[in-house]
Amino acid sequence: MSIALPPTPLVSRVLATLIPGPKSSELHARKAAAVSPGVGVTLPIYVARASDGIIEDIDGNVFVDLGSGIGVTGVGNANAQVVAAVAEQAQLFTHTAFAVTPYESYIRVCEMLNEVTPGAHEKRSALFNSGAEAVENAVKIARKFTGRQAIVVLENGYHGRTNLTMGMTAKSMPFKDGFGPFAPEIYRLPGSYPFRDGRTADEAARITISRIEKEIGGSSLAAIVVEPIQGEGGFIVPAPGFLPALAEYARSTGALFVADEIQSGFCRTGDWFASEHEGLVPDLITTAKGIAGGMPLSAVTGRADIMDSVHAGGLGGTYTGNPVACAAAIAAMTWMNQSTATELARQIEGVALDKLTSARDAHEVIGEVRGRGAMIAMEFAQPDSREPLPDLTARVARECHERGVIVLTTGTYANVIRLLPPFSIPLSTLHEGLDVIREVIDEFAPQ
Ligand SMILES: *Cc1c(COP(=O)(O)O)cnc(C)c1O
Repeated sequence: MSIALPPTPLVSRVLATLIPGPKSSELHARKAAAVSPGVGVTLPIYVARASDGIIEDIDGNVFVDLGSGIGVTGVGNANAQVVAAVAEQAQLFTHTAFAVTPYESYIRVCEMLNEVTPGAHEKRSALFNSGAEAVENAVKIARKFTGRQAIVVLENGYHGRTNLTMGMTAKSMPFKDGFGPFAPEIYRLPGSYPFRDGRTADEAARITISRIEKEIGGSSLAAIVVEPIQGEGGFIVPAPGFLPALAEYARSTGALFVADEIQSGFCRTGDWFASEHEGLVPDLITTAKGIAGGMPLSAVTGRADIMDSVHAGGLGGTYTGNPVACAAAIAAMTWMNQSTATELARQIEGVALDKLTSARDAHEVIGEVRGRGAMIAMEFAQPDSREPLPDLTARVARECHERGVIVLTTGTYANVIRLLPPFSIPLSTLHEGLDVIREVIDEFAPQ
């Protein structure tokens, strides 16, 4: 249907019908009859086309999109270079299976990942399909290399929905409820959440490390797996110094420090990877979401000696490193370089922090505005008790949707509005989206 349409030229909202419109509602009824209800939908407007911070639905409504498909389309939903690379590769071949008859683009993606990830040491990469699959493989590799089994993850962490990664994910509803049993040798320990725990980096690290020592034993630890900024947990930025302390501890025991940069990677936080902000050099790093302009691809990148410990055939899968996805990744990473996406993300940070901070100053229920780059959030909580306010948060998100601005909620307590705009969003479009958020907050949040 949308194949004949050129990329949308629009940069501003159009509200043609009530949200959702009649055509979307019709499709939503078809969805209810055909699609498992386990597959939820945040906003049932059905998409006709999408570009740089703009989504047009089939009823002619045009939305400002501050979610990028959960932080995936940083380069835009129909980036011209990605589109051309995908079309060209699809005409040559869509699949051969790299493990059977390989092709160059897979190698090129790995070379680029080895180059852009933190650390100047020799690295290798392996490609997969989804974020969860990358995390699973990082765990496999860490166990193989260390000969140990225990994996430490943090409270409020999110690592995916497969069985192993559900076990690593903190939040029960909706991710885990009724889906157990979960895999053994996963230990979830306190992390650092300054707004809620009030701890310094040293205090938080001491608690986590002493729990590892007492409950697991450093010599049994294979890896500590952390998100440098916790995404689904609520865009939680740990106290500066907490992550370096964990990394140093992991190394002192012979365990690996693994950064899950699936949401925070690829220029999202104003650096190529969020780890760089604190000079962290992870032993392994998992990537996905922003890697390929919307095509499904993920990776594990890490120290050559660690990656080389796995036997041939131990890593892979039928579709892993699909050639169309690899072509898209090369184009997306090239665009991020050429367009200095890190600078664009910092520019977005300036605009978003400015507007959200002024909203916070006017409304005590905004407990905190936090984040870096194009990964910014605000947490709603009772002013004194800091009791989470999920109903108000859901109300604000829903009102934004009805006024044509797509925002996502997040957080262990579902009380955080998160912004993940594409780097390619025109600044006027960003301003428009943020102004609507402010208007909604002024209307619905108490002073
Ligand atoms: C989204 C996400 C995952 C899972 O990625 P999928 O592609 O959905 O499997 C894992 N870790 C983090 C930090 C994520 O944000």
